[in-house]
Amino acid sequence: MADVEQVIIIGSGPAGYTAALYTSRANLAPLMIEGFAWGGLLQQTTEVENYPGYPEGIMGPEMMQQLRDQAERFGTRFITDDATRVELATEPGGVHRVWVGDDSYQARTVILATGAQHKKLGAPGEEELGGRGVSYCATCDAAFFRDKETLIVGGGDSAMEEAIFLSKFAKTVTVVHRRDEFRASRIMLDRARASENIVFMTPYLVEELLAEVQGGPLTHATLRNPETGEARDCRFDGAFIAIGHEPQSELFAEQVEVDDGGYVVTEGKSTRTKLPGVFAAGDVVDHTYRQAVTAAGSGCQAALDAEWYLRDTPGVPVPEGMPAAPVPESHWAPAAAQA
Ligand code: NAP
Repeated sequence: MADVEQVIIIGSGPAGYTAALYTSRANLAPLMIEGFAWGGLLQQTTEVENYPGYPEGIMGPEMMQQLRDQAERFGTRFITDDATRVELATEPGGVHRVWVGDDSYQARTVILATGAQHKKLGAPGEEELGGRGVSYCATCDAAFFRDKETLIVGGGDSAMEEAIFLSKFAKTVTVVHRRDEFRASRIMLDRARASENIVFMTPYLVEELLAEVQGGPLTHATLRNPETGEARDCRFDGAFIAIGHEPQSELFAEQVEVDDGGYVVTEGKSTRTKLPGVFAAGDVVDHTYRQAVTAAGSGCQAALDAEWYLRDTPGVPVPEGMPAAPVPESHWAPAAAQA
């Protein structure tokens, strides 16, 4: 079975690249299907100040390039395109198949690290005005809104980060949040509040995003106060939606177990899914911590779990140079059984 890979990694955020680093250092020569837009959400971020080891901070895209370089250095091979279909084996030792368009690849283990994408507001006008004033990435699009009136929707760290970045370009940035309390950390909130051209409107819901001219760009938004019922029509040239993320699990959601939110369910403290030889890591699993450093940590776990699976599963040839001691069964037990 020379054409069967030991490991295929799907997705390329901090979880995917860390899994690639570890499996490549374990001589498993991983094949990473990193996606056409490789590097995940951190490619759209400005400065990352909370990743350990970078006292001065590092720009998101630079960090992703470094993670990729490090994985490549030890032998990771990349396909810079999107996985389009998977057929995951259900028996231990089974071979999994992954397609990229018409090309198919086989592997003994698969690590799912497809991350998360920006959550949609679901307001009328949002979809139609995408690319014509409505955006999910200030880092990408702020320069188009120089000296313009802009809106940020959301009350978390993403919304604050987007607002602070956008305020360097836009004339005004109005942060609209549905509650008076913010989910954002104190430091981010204080920075946003310190900016002269950022204003806050709470509690307000965005009811509709509108264009004066049919087929034209966004020109205004209807906001409603959920407590008083008062509605306001405000002029905006740009609206940035920063209300969190949802997992990118559609590709395999019908084959592995996912929860109500679409996050992949893993067993106990491990990264193992219900399918033998299939592991999941990063934001496609984690709806709690969602940090680059926690994603990287779980990518490391997935790599080790995949290594141990390859070593311990009957019928799967043990990769050269791998130690022989099996992982204790308790590692795979549900969290309740480990308590
Ligand atoms: P988040 O913390 O989940 O915040 C989402 C915000 O959007 C919340 O304020 C939420 O309101 C609001 N929201 C959600 N659905 C909404 C809807 N349908 N309509 C209107 N508002 C809605 O997500 P996040 O800001 O993307 O942050 C995710 C994680 O990444 C967090 O752990 C955060 O600390 C981290 N992060 C860190 C940084 C940094 O440190 N530089 C930057 C970005 C993100 P409610 O509060 O009412 O639920």
